Amino acid sequence: MISPTLVNLGYLIASVLFIMGLKMLSRQKTARMGNRLSAVAMLLAVVTALLSQEMGYTYIIAGFVIGGLIGTVAASRVQLTAMPELVALFNGFGGVASLLVGWAEYEDARWIWVQQAPTLITLLGTFLAVLIGGVTFTGSLVAYAKLAQKLPGRPLGIRGQQIINAVFLAAALAAGVAFMLNPVGMYPAFLALVGLSLVFGVLFTLPSGGADMPVAISLLNSCSGLAACAAGFVIDNTVLIVAGALVGASGLVLTMIMCKAMNRSLRNVLFGAFGGGGGKGEGAERGQENPIDADAASYVLEAADSVVVVPGYGMAVAQAQHAVRELAELLAENGTSVTFGVHPVAGRMPGHMNVLLAEANVPYDQLLEMDDVNAQMSNTDVAIVIGANDVVNPAARDDADSTIYGMPIINVDHARTVFVLKRSMASGFAGIDNPLFYKDNTRMLFGDAKASIEALIAELKEN
Ligand code: NDP
Repeated sequence: MISPTLVNLGYLIASVLFIMGLKMLSRQKTARMGNRLSAVAMLLAVVTALLSQEMGYTYIIAGFVIGGLIGTVAASRVQLTAMPELVALFNGFGGVASLLVGWAEYEDARWIWVQQAPTLITLLGTFLAVLIGGVTFTGSLVAYAKLAQKLPGRPLGIRGQQIINAVFLAAALAAGVAFMLNPVGMYPAFLALVGLSLVFGVLFTLPSGGADMPVAISLLNSCSGLAACAAGFVIDNTVLIVAGALVGASGLVLTMIMCKAMNRSLRNVLFGAFGGGGGKGEGAERGQENPIDADAASYVLEAADSVVVVPGYGMAVAQAQHAVRELAELLAENGTSVTFGVHPVAGRMPGHMNVLLAEANVPYDQLLEMDDVNAQMSNTDVAIVIGANDVVNPAARDDADSTIYGMPIINVDHARTVFVLKRSMASGFAGIDNPLFYKDNTRMLFGDAKASIEALIAELKEN
């Protein structure tokens, strides 16, 4: 056991390193270092916590070995495309950890509280760690199931969903208040709080779908931090309070950025499903698509002065990012100006496309944000859509009945010619048809994105 001064010093250094790490994550050049710094901070925080008081290490070592093994196997086996699901799961485990800390402390302290009343901070911390932790846990499990396509990605609401949600939330809050007013005698209220929080997490996330999902996921991420922060108050651990608050605050900032990108208010995301299904997008009469092969497409690309590449989830599935970089280089050598239009919710997690393109060494200054790329779209010769669907769906802009109406998109249909690289006419995450595929200036290049791009590269080299 080390002295309280050393414990505080360890926590202080860890907190400073967390803040520096987080700051460094905001720039591509410093992001790796920021990640390492945060990992060192976490190690320091854990070691300091373990040495801060007398404790039996048997269970801790057992948990460390079992959890470490599961985590290592899961992280090393996961396909890159399943990364968002894994992150959603880990998020949920963070939530349930906070819930269990709150619960365990309550079980332990209940008997002490008979003689010595707990402080308001301890009670409030326990209440919030359980409530937010429970919601985060089951909410993240639903998000995982939606991302892994074990549940449909569209909003899954039932009639009167908002009222049911409000009733469950009110019941959870009432149980929490009852527990706080009489923490020793109201054991059933505490158990009800646990159960209601878990159910509310499911009810809250099920109606989110399609374009709302990224916002719901970043909100759950923020919640996992807030739950940890509350758990920090329960066990009086400074570094847990600081780290939880950092995750909570940065998650909230990301949530607001996502809301802005999706043209949605947080209130709408929380209390109303995006469209709710049944829009025209699903039932609209299909037009006739125009297929093209790599040979013909390569001639159009060869003659193009400007090309915008718009990547989406299919690029991640096909692992086509390296081939995409090679294609861009080839076009640039031919005198074509090439830029990348990255939609904020393309893929399945925030920054998904940026990570893949950075991995393939696509220069960061070629990546344009949605507004900038849209401003130049009508002067663009060819837009190449690589495995993107929802983020280029003009129904979001033009069809007030569409379930994704109001979500900003990359206006690839304003380019002179659009090539869409995908395997079939299947829909994207939102599960709706895409009128872009039937437009006069759109040509469908069917096939796996990586194979199609490699074919384009081969044709361009041959021409
Ligand atoms: P979409 O999910 O809309 O579409 C992806 C397309 O990729 C599919 O239509 C599919 O068509 C195609 N595809 C799949 N595999 C391949 C392959 N191997 N080669 C070529 N094409 C392939 O993706 P977007 O990126 O356009 O949109 C993201 C969606 O995910 C949005 O609805 C967003 O709200 C949602 N979402 C985003 C999150 C985020 O944080 N970014 C989180 C959660 C959800 P086909 O099968 O015919 O090939």
